[in-house]
Amino acid sequence: MSSKQVDLFVIGGGSGGVRAARIAAQHGAKVMMAEEYRMGGTCVIRGCVPKKLFVHAGRYAHDLEDMAGFGWRVSGVEFDWLTLIANKDKEIARLEGLYRKNAEAAGVEIVASRAVVAGPTTVRIVATGAEIEARHILVATGAKPASGPDIPGRELAITSNEAFHLPRFPERVLVQGAGYIAVEFAGLFRALGALTHLVFRGAQILRGFDDEVRAHLASEMVKQGIHLHAGATLAKIEAIAGGKKVTLSDGSAVEVDEVMLAIGRSPNTEGLGLEAAGVKLDAAGAVEVDAASRSSVPSIYAVGDVTDRVNLTPVAIREGHAFADTVFGGKPWSVDHSGIASAVFSEPEIGTVGLTEAGARAVCPKVDVYKTTFRPLKATLSGRDTRVFMKLVVDATDERVVGCHIVGEGASEMIQLAAVAIGMGARKSDFDRTVAVHPTAAEELVTMRTKAS
Ligand code: FAD
Ligand code: NDP
Repeated sequence: MSSKQVDLFVIGGGSGGVRAARIAAQHGAKVMMAEEYRMGGTCVIRGCVPKKLFVHAGRYAHDLEDMAGFGWRVSGVEFDWLTLIANKDKEIARLEGLYRKNAEAAGVEIVASRAVVAGPTTVRIVATGAEIEARHILVATGAKPASGPDIPGRELAITSNEAFHLPRFPERVLVQGAGYIAVEFAGLFRALGALTHLVFRGAQILRGFDDEVRAHLASEMVKQGIHLHAGATLAKIEAIAGGKKVTLSDGSAVEVDEVMLAIGRSPNTEGLGLEAAGVKLDAAGAVEVDAASRSSVPSIYAVGDVTDRVNLTPVAIREGHAFADTVFGGKPWSVDHSGIASAVFSEPEIGTVGLTEAGARAVCPKVDVYKTTFRPLKATLSGRDTRVFMKLVVDATDERVVGCHIVGEGASEMIQLAAVAIGMGARKSDFDRTVAVHPTAAEELVTMRTKAS
């Protein structure tokens, strides 16, 4: 029985859903949104934001090590994991409240329940059984950690979800995977003092990134004492006195306090009623959409991680905004998924935009590469054994810079601005004529003159 009618029903109160709901309501639509867990979604509650706070916590440990060379004597310093968790939780609760407040202020009605699709224009609120008629449905349910193959003892492992609430800091930790989440957590656990193992099935970390960036970060991780186990998977996890014993596919074993799986994420479409309503999903369960984020059922749209396009917060937000402007604001536009910059908050961090060298060589007849590696100024006094790596990939036919890759402190901040220039079609000569800001690491981006290849 239909009890209510709305213009838009949004399933999922995360990055994409909240933006779409808020903008649609501002365009005058009657909007209802269901969130089954906490407002703000993955990014705010158990993704980008708490992760970056943990990264900051780890960087203080590096700063403490680096201070002595600058004349500072520090003693009696200790790290308290539970203080970090409590303060992080307080900030996350504040942000969650803001998300709710802003959506409600725009006129969005928020329902604290799981919701499922009951037909092309019908949503069922699971908590009450109420059925809502909606002119349009937006699926913005995000993704969840993949659980991987069913190995013995898999239930003893955690994922990033639990890593944000561990009752004790793991002094010894094994992380499986070599993507964004795995290298970020390996870096922050190590910085906070854990004996850290990173186990991955490939030959190198971060498949899809520029090969030299991958190699550079891997060597930096090894310098910090992270144990890299390439070409390995987990065969078995056993509970033992005082921890967990993990047997790897090569027969070796490591004993740790926590095992964290970071082996990708699966779109949240299970049991959502999409297929019954006629919505096409791909082999991984992601909603198939067109450039306007419309599914195979004209009244049902999807944005964000559930569509498995570019799984980043700013992308989900932009997709939600474009959907709302297009469907409710009379201002049609769509998101350009090319040339999106991203950062990996590893130690040191990566900033990347555009084509890798191998990617450019596959599409450009001739490619010029400019690169540099150097010891950052701070490391000369701190004594830290670290190097920065930078690379510009140039399409030699028109001199346009088609890729920029940075590994080093501040890379995430630098890449945002490099992305503006590259998005505008900057040529290598535009970088060259830009006067350097000195002394910075970023100045190397405008002073690389010699082609490496
Ligand atoms: P989500 O934010 O996941 O929101 C989906 C919401 O839907 C959730 O709140 C969920 O509870 C709710 N939901 C699901 N099913 C239902 C249902 N049936 N009924 C009601 N509610 C439902 N991206 C970056 O850009 N930078 C980063 O640094 C970064 N770090 C990350 C770190 C980690 C550990 C993780 C896991 C992800 C990170 N990401 C990062 C990715 C980013 O979090 C996602 O791309 C982004 O949150 C996707 O937004 P979304 O709206 O698609 O989904
Ligand atoms: P990724 O897709 O980045 O990496 C998945 C990793 O798991 C890869 O190393 C992959 O190996 C490995 N893997 C997949 N399946 C298996 C398996 N069955 N056994 C062993 N290893 C396996 O996923 P993440 O979970 O790290 O992150 C999900 C997404 O969230 C990211 O892609 C990114 O879009 C987003 N994110 C963004 C962040 C940021 O912007 N800083 C931070 C965190 C997440 P292989 O390469 O061999 O396939």
